[in-house]
Amino acid sequence: MTRTHAIVIGASLGGLCAAKVLSERFERVTLFERDDLPDGPANRAAVPQGRHVHLLMARGAKEFESLFPGLLEDMVAAGVPILENRPDCIHFGAAGHVLGTQHTLQDEFTAYVPSRPHLEWQIRRRVLELSNVTLVNDSVDEPVFDGQRVTGVTVGGTTVDADLVIDATGRGTRLPVWLEQWGFERPSEDTVEVGIGYATHQVRIPDGLFAEKVVVAGASREQPVGLGMLYYEDGNWGLTTFGIAKVPPPNDFAGMCALADEILPPHVAAALRLGEPIGEVAFHKYPTSRWRRYDKLDRFPEGILPFGDAVASFNPTFGQGMTMTSLQAGHLRRALDDPGESLAATFTKATKKTTWPVWTMNAVGDMVLHRAEGPMPWWYRPVGSLFDQFLGAAETDPVLAEWFLRRFSLLDNLYMVPSAKLVGRTVRHNMRLWAAEKKARGRRSRETVASAPATSA
Ligand SMILES: Cc1cc2nc3c(=O)[nH]c(=O)nc-3n(C[C@H](O)[C@H](O)[C@H](O)COP(=O)(O)OP(=O)(O)OC[C@H]3O[C@@H](n4cnc5c(N)ncnc54)[C@H](O)[C@@H]3O)c2cc1C
Repeated sequence: MTRTHAIVIGASLGGLCAAKVLSERFERVTLFERDDLPDGPANRAAVPQGRHVHLLMARGAKEFESLFPGLLEDMVAAGVPILENRPDCIHFGAAGHVLGTQHTLQDEFTAYVPSRPHLEWQIRRRVLELSNVTLVNDSVDEPVFDGQRVTGVTVGGTTVDADLVIDATGRGTRLPVWLEQWGFERPSEDTVEVGIGYATHQVRIPDGLFAEKVVVAGASREQPVGLGMLYYEDGNWGLTTFGIAKVPPPNDFAGMCALADEILPPHVAAALRLGEPIGEVAFHKYPTSRWRRYDKLDRFPEGILPFGDAVASFNPTFGQGMTMTSLQAGHLRRALDDPGESLAATFTKATKKTTWPVWTMNAVGDMVLHRAEGPMPWWYRPVGSLFDQFLGAAETDPVLAEWFLRRFSLLDNLYMVPSAKLVGRTVRHNMRLWAAEKKARGRRSRETVASAPATSA
């Protein structure tokens, strides 16, 4: 393949990351974006999810920084909160368990909390500074397939030639349809019917009422509505409530505060009640997590690659989508440097390797701990139950909590599989808790008996 011109369809986070990688390996890169792109950090019509709370995983921050050196420093200079001392700054609840994050972590890591529009803008301005990247504000009709390979795209009926086209058009990608039109198979799809609804308000809360900068209370089987609160660079809080398994979230600020009273620490819920909601509530529906299995196709045309959410979109309440996209940028770089027999096969197989562990653990959590619908492999239930035990122990064991937080942040390893040593620690910890609870119950019932009035025969 000659490397004269590459085209990227879609200039959201995925497209921007792909454009950066391509700019180092092609003479020129053209990014097509159909949406109006604001000059500064602002929400966009074509990225409706940007209005809702977005958590940037620590791994994603690292990957974005390696792609765009200086990004994190610039974000912090622009007021993006940085969490160096996580134990004081985070309240984290997952599947009905509140993790023991108040303890000192042995190996602390830094987290950054940019809003979705801010992160995209910081990245976009870097990409637009690249001398060989051009942004065209127009909608791509479709790629051009010459019977052998993709050779460009049409835009408003005009053909633009390219050696490689990247489809970064997000969840709504039409690549499966195009493949079929060109005589290829559509990819099969792995799906999980999560039935998620989001409702988000921006809120201004008076300073100094509480230390936490990230407040997450995930949903569970028993409590199918969750809440996330992130303190953003503009001094406001993003307050997102979400329902899973088609349970609707609250639809106004009063309802959100009532939910906070139920599931947040009292001092945070009380502070939220003193907050002033700004603007309107934004809503979003996310019925299905979807992984298009391009890695399983035997035949795939050269000249085009799917990227970002166009390949896999993950349950957004786990906060992983942007980080998974950042990992694909690394796969693209390595695949371009060493394409093997087929660039597409090399890239999609590498993407599969990082998607599988994260997708699978999400699916286990969704099906077993979150009441998602659909068939599941037999082993999901025992794994989910074991994980429930693990999270239960992590409530009071900081070593387990730290391990979970690091893996959840996609650091160290993408597999959420504790070592035998950690499993042993979990069992011992839960046995101790169980024994202590049994003793306390015995004491309580003895006290009740002793204080009960004597009954006469
Ligand atoms: C409610 C919600 C909450 C989320 N929360 C988190 C979170 O907490 N943490 C996290 O990491 N991730 C989160 N995500 C996921 C995250 O938003 C995505 O992973 C991320 O936006 C990357 O997407 P993308 O660039 O692949 O696609 P998108 O952001 O969907 O962008 C696709 C782009 O392609 C453009 N486009 C489409 N068709 C054309 C065309 N024909 N021509 C030109 N341009 C076109 C669109 O205008 C758009 O700009 C969340 C997602 C949702 C839905």
